[in-house]
Amino acid sequence: MTAPLSANHLTGEPLRATGKHIGIAGAGLMGRLLAWQLLRCGHRVGLFDRDKKNGEASAGRVAAAMLAPYSEALGRERAIFDWGLESITLWPRLLAQLEHDSGVQVSFQHRGSVVVAHQQDRSSLRHFNQRLTTQLPDRLDAVEYCDQQRLCQLEPELADTFTDAIFLKDEGCLDNWALLDALAIAIEKLGGQWHEDAEVTQVNSAVIVNIDETHTFDTVIDARGFGAKAQTPGLRGVRGEVLWVRAPDVRLSRPVRLMHPRYQLYIAPKPDSIYVIGATEIESESVAPITVRSSLELLSALYSVHTSFAEAHIIRAFAQCRPAFMDNLPRIECVDDCIKVNGLYRHGYLLAPVVLQATLSALQGNFHHPLVNTSCQAARVAEK
Ligand SMILES: Cc1cc2nc3c(=O)[nH]c(=O)nc-3n(C[C@H](O)[C@H](O)[C@H](O)COP(=O)(O)OP(=O)(O)OC[C@H]3O[C@@H](n4cnc5c(N)ncnc54)[C@H](O)[C@@H]3O)c2cc1C
Repeated sequence: MTAPLSANHLTGEPLRATGKHIGIAGAGLMGRLLAWQLLRCGHRVGLFDRDKKNGEASAGRVAAAMLAPYSEALGRERAIFDWGLESITLWPRLLAQLEHDSGVQVSFQHRGSVVVAHQQDRSSLRHFNQRLTTQLPDRLDAVEYCDQQRLCQLEPELADTFTDAIFLKDEGCLDNWALLDALAIAIEKLGGQWHEDAEVTQVNSAVIVNIDETHTFDTVIDARGFGAKAQTPGLRGVRGEVLWVRAPDVRLSRPVRLMHPRYQLYIAPKPDSIYVIGATEIESESVAPITVRSSLELLSALYSVHTSFAEAHIIRAFAQCRPAFMDNLPRIECVDDCIKVNGLYRHGYLLAPVVLQATLSALQGNFHHPLVNTSCQAARVAEK
């Protein structure tokens, strides 16, 4: 890799123009965050996506954007939990910067989430609690087993149906549609060059190939998510489906997760009485529309949580692939003048600030974050 980029990103150091020209393939969650931060650092950025700016084909747009380090910790690497908590502390600062740059305030909720189970499935709730106790014994201060009275204080409309719940105080969610729109505005305002409908066929050292046109940069970043599969050994897609409903008669203020012996449902509240219901997790790389079976499972579970969802309107249905490696951990791979950021799986929003920070550090020549591929660290050492 050539000379490191300017030492400035989330550190808040003053901006300075460096003249570095950086190409980014993929304008989903990571591509937009990186483009925006690099522009803030004074670099020139070219951003290529095969989609329009609204990015409806990205996993980032389809996601529920739950920030759920506890729920996601079970059976997974401890690092997901630790990076998730770290990211949750970084989001408010990023969103404040973004509001400054775009004029858009992105809703960020960090008031916890509630896990419930029907009477016949209460063993699932107890099992969930036991697993949390075993896996995160040092972090149980943010886990509260609630009786009906406490549940009534937290989410009054759930207390008629459920007798107990688990309150995960350190979880939350954000408005990802507002975030992606705000990032597009900020990138434009800061002078980023956005190429819509630009299918990228190759990302190599310092080069992005868009169909038969070759664009050369000082450094390139491949942030195409599942779309990078052909050029990324070991990457797979994990299909996820979500439904959007508008339910003005329902008042849930926090994300709610329903434990069920066969599948889990979550309900993520968004502005304007919209709830995102999801998400299926299927080992398939199909992005065909949501199936009848998945819709029935999601909607019947939804109705069982709160009967007022019966009158809700189904306004959108999405299916998309989460980009994942075999270990389901993100990776930042640096080879020559190309950085590949991928494998965020079902943790894109949960981990984005930490992945962003580690990628920006790698661009500056600091490869020490454990997310950064070690062979690249070795290459760097060999260079010296
Ligand atoms: C149903 C579902 C629910 C989810 N829920 C959550 C959640 O609650 N919390 C959470 O933290 N995470 C969640 N995720 C995961 C999260 O959305 C992803 O981890 C994240 O979006 C990955 O970011 P990315 O930038 O790598 O990929 P993406 O956001 O998918 O962006 C990739 C971009 O690259 C573009 N692209 C692809 N191929 C090409 C090409 N050849 N040429 C040009 N452009 C290309 C695409 O159009 C897209 O814009 C969910 C995902 C799904 C599918």
